[in-house]
Amino acid sequence: MPNADASPVILWFRRDLRLADNPALNAAAETGRPVIPVFILDEAGDGRPWGAASLWWLDGSLRALAASLKDRGAPLLLKRGHAESELRRLIAETGADTVFMNRLFEPEAWTRDADIAHGLKDDGVECRGFNGSLMAKPGSVLTGSGGPYKVFTPFKNALLAKAEAPPHTTAPRELTPVKGLDSDHIDDWNLKPTKPDWSTRFDWTPGEAAATEALHAFTGDALKTYSIGRDHPAEVGGSRLSPHLHWGEIHPWRVVEAVQKAAADRRAPQAEADKFVAEIAWREFSAHLLHAFPQITERSFRPEYDAFPWRSDTKGFKAWTRGQTGYPIVDAGMRQLWTTGWMHNRVRMIVGSFLVKDLLVDWRKGEAWFWDTLVDADLANNVQNWQWVAGSGADASPFFRIFNPTAQGQRFDADGDYVRRWVPELAALPAKWVHAPWTAPEDVLAKAKVRLGTDYPNPILDHSEARDRALEALKAIARSK
Ligand code: FAD
Repeated sequence: MPNADASPVILWFRRDLRLADNPALNAAAETGRPVIPVFILDEAGDGRPWGAASLWWLDGSLRALAASLKDRGAPLLLKRGHAESELRRLIAETGADTVFMNRLFEPEAWTRDADIAHGLKDDGVECRGFNGSLMAKPGSVLTGSGGPYKVFTPFKNALLAKAEAPPHTTAPRELTPVKGLDSDHIDDWNLKPTKPDWSTRFDWTPGEAAATEALHAFTGDALKTYSIGRDHPAEVGGSRLSPHLHWGEIHPWRVVEAVQKAAADRRAPQAEADKFVAEIAWREFSAHLLHAFPQITERSFRPEYDAFPWRSDTKGFKAWTRGQTGYPIVDAGMRQLWTTGWMHNRVRMIVGSFLVKDLLVDWRKGEAWFWDTLVDADLANNVQNWQWVAGSGADASPFFRIFNPTAQGQRFDADGDYVRRWVPELAALPAKWVHAPWTAPEDVLAKAKVRLGTDYPNPILDHSEARDRALEALKAIARSK
């Protein structure tokens, strides 16, 4: 029975912006006491300031969450400032004696939350943390000798053998609110860009309902051919659930169960479901790895890579960020990212390889660019994948495997549709030339109205020379050992 007279509890929303399957919310509601749902916009993010595209997403997701909470009778309180100070202010104002939250497992967020919990405990306020974002808590899937896994496949096998799905819970129908508390207005936070508004072609709907819809759409369609589609950037291919998962708009177990059910009901082949679950397991691997090895946001997982002779190629880096390298598949990817806040996984690998191996620019610069521009920017996934591309990560692709951007384009975008969509200057080039316009005969270029060096850049480097240079640079690591 609700007890409106008892002291209230705080429900601190962070990256768990949903009502269903939300363990912290369920525990707060079960107390039967008034609940104060709050989101605190801390300039420091969860340890690292959020990127611009992330803030765009956050705006939509908070609006959706606020609407759902309002329907349940408890408005979402918005506060801006230092997380601990804002919590303390709220505790002092309301007499709340418990803070419920779903844990964040990234090193800095983890330490911050632990410090907050210790500090509040001294003042008689209890913090109760839950796992609402991962299939298994970091530290719960360990090798036989009790250490963290450093290789993906045994990790995945152990995860799937060990982790158990929590029971499905729906959003509570009603929450007892605390009245009269002051909240910021989200419009005043200016989370979305205005001058200029670079988000006009962001084709996303943030929020819990949209996440469920995306899952439904995926299981009914692209899942059937997932293993092929996920490699072909001209198709939707994947689930596009990454930003929804990052912001906690859906529980990963619900995603896994929906996909497994589609296979059990014969709506999709089991092999496709297994491939998809393996990708969700990569998400878990990234999170567990970062939790166990907090230094990998800054340093190479394989320490010898910290001796790598990176180049400071400002011009090359700028061409890469703008999608002006002269390699169409690279430019298409970088423009898709800028235009929509997202990039297809296959192309992320291609542009990553180009930056790190062709341009020899430090992976950390690429990671930072992605952090600012991706709507699904996620510390663990971004760092783990960039280190995978660079060869410096755990279970990474070896550095000497250098993607040829032309061959990758011809293989995975054989008709050139992806390039034509994002590099309209090349729209009229036949498929035969679209991935290497500099090899096209003059008359073909003229017919397609492409003047290389004017309408579209000549390649900023020669890939085979860049490849030799990269392999030469790799020797520096061997010498440093
Ligand atoms: P699907 O193919 O439908 O996969 C389902 C889910 O599994 C994804 O939503 C994601 O949560 C997870 N997943 C899929 N692939 C990976 C992977 N390789 N590593 C970890 N998790 C994965 N993903 C992010 O969520 N945030 C990032 O910041 C990020 N940065 C990346 C940087 C580079 C250089 C590379 C190569 C990959 C990066 N990825 C990142 C992984 C991957 O590209 C995206 O998760 C995927 O493209 C999202 O599309 P989707 O939701 O359709 O994926």
